Amino acid sequence: MQAQQTAYDVIVIGSGVAGLSAAVSAQENGAKVCLVDRASAAEAGGNTRHTGAYIRMKSVDQVSDDFEEHFAANAGGYLDPLMMADVARDQPSWPPLLKALSFVDPNVVATLASESPPTLAWLQGHGVQFFPLDVPFPTSAQPRIVPSGGGLALVESLTKVLTQKGGTVLYETAAMSLLQDDQGRVSGVRSQGRGHRRIDLQARAVVIASGGFQGNAEMLTRYIGPRALHLRAMSVGGRYNKGEGIRMALDIGAAPCGDFGSYHASPFDPRSRRAGASIYIYPYGVLVNKEGLRFVDEGPGETDETYESVTRRIFAQTDGIAWSILDGKTDDLPNQAVTVKSEQPAIEADSLAQLAGKLGIPADMLERTVGDYNAACVDGQFDPRRVDGLATRGLNPPKSNWARPLNTAPFKAYPIVSSIVFTFGGLKTDSLARVLNLEGDPIPGLYAAGEAQGLYYGNYTGATSVLKGAVFGRIAGRDAARAIA
Ligand SMILES: Cc1cc2nc3c(=O)[nH]c(=O)nc-3n(C[C@H](O)[C@H](O)[C@H](O)COP(=O)(O)OP(=O)(O)OC[C@H]3O[C@@H](n4cnc5c(N)ncnc54)[C@H](O)[C@@H]3O)c2cc1C
Repeated sequence: MQAQQTAYDVIVIGSGVAGLSAAVSAQENGAKVCLVDRASAAEAGGNTRHTGAYIRMKSVDQVSDDFEEHFAANAGGYLDPLMMADVARDQPSWPPLLKALSFVDPNVVATLASESPPTLAWLQGHGVQFFPLDVPFPTSAQPRIVPSGGGLALVESLTKVLTQKGGTVLYETAAMSLLQDDQGRVSGVRSQGRGHRRIDLQARAVVIASGGFQGNAEMLTRYIGPRALHLRAMSVGGRYNKGEGIRMALDIGAAPCGDFGSYHASPFDPRSRRAGASIYIYPYGVLVNKEGLRFVDEGPGETDETYESVTRRIFAQTDGIAWSILDGKTDDLPNQAVTVKSEQPAIEADSLAQLAGKLGIPADMLERTVGDYNAACVDGQFDPRRVDGLATRGLNPPKSNWARPLNTAPFKAYPIVSSIVFTFGGLKTDSLARVLNLEGDPIPGLYAAGEAQGLYYGNYTGATSVLKGAVFGRIAGRDAARAIA
């Protein structure tokens, strides 16, 4: 059967915040745009559809104080100082090895920081309102603002702008590979419609905004390892992200960026049917594994800055699960809706031994663990709203804050596993969102934004993924349209 052929200026793959920002911006800059998404119209929007979309900014005009420093502190392992010596020069004059290196390019981060305010102003111009979030986490080190209506509002507003101004959207159409002309320029996308029907779409530029590979069991196992089986998707939206966008670009010689062996982790109630069912109450009790043992400092600092590293320790336990053990005193905690985002109730019992029975962990070990912890608690002022310094004495591992004895029935527990919000491994771009090849040169006609644009290593710079998608999606659409004008 003859493949279907249609020609556009810009094809965008994916209708999350990155893809929609790219499509609307390309259209505003004069391009004839086609957006493809593997999901149906009712489910398209990937992770963006399900996120609250916290943004690491003090206001629509200012990013957080630590914005660029946090990226710099998580720039990509032990970087070779000899190679880094050239980073201070203009990026176009960098040697090819440095341009293509898998690390956080400070120019990209500087662009993210400087383009965030104008991008939010642009979104406001498309009907999205932002407001500051007073209590984003039980305790927070950095500010957050949010769009009214969360990520869904971004998806709905931008889709409306795109379609009302004549943009084409093909749902239930999955991009599979890139088409190239005989000079190596990207010239379109080979896609697949329902019923394994092939659809070739011609274009002068392609923006890959199809998310990470958290929806692809084979890629998760290959890059993160067999224990990825224990990860729980943060939302059903992420399951549509099967990594083809990243793979199709790597297949034509794109350079990788972002930590392929890692992902954004969040503490999640595995019983929940909700997107984003995070459990942030654990700093007020102890965490025990299947053996009934503590394994981590549950209260190392503000929740927003420490939940990811604590969750990674939970993932490392037997079967990737732990329980937050609490007691009756937790009923008095403020901000319950923020501390427990699961709709599932705590598992309760009148004694620790009964609780252990319900959890399937050895009762004697749980009693001994909690007994040792209680004995290490000292008198002091407990303050759940801030880092209170109420630490255990002589306990290993220590608990650095909010250490008060667990001695008041009913005893309670929440199971916690690591959710996978999105994968870190993606494509190397410059600050115009152009995908670079392994020689550090832009691949003509190819752009990447959102999760598909790799930028994270180590600890995720919290509340920057939606922002990064919007900023570089908008830049990609604009540059793609201008480059072909
Ligand atoms: C519950 C939850 C809470 C979160 N909280 C925050 C937060 O507070 N702040 C923050 O910054 N981030 C947060 N995140 C992460 C953030 O939402 C995402 O990383 C971000 O929205 C990703 O945007 P994206 O456009 O790159 O990808 P997505 O929004 O995932 O969109 C990708 C789109 O590509 C489509 N697609 C995939 N493969 C193909 C293909 N081959 N062909 C065609 N289409 C394809 C998918 O169907 C999907 O529509 C959260 C995520 C979740 C789930």
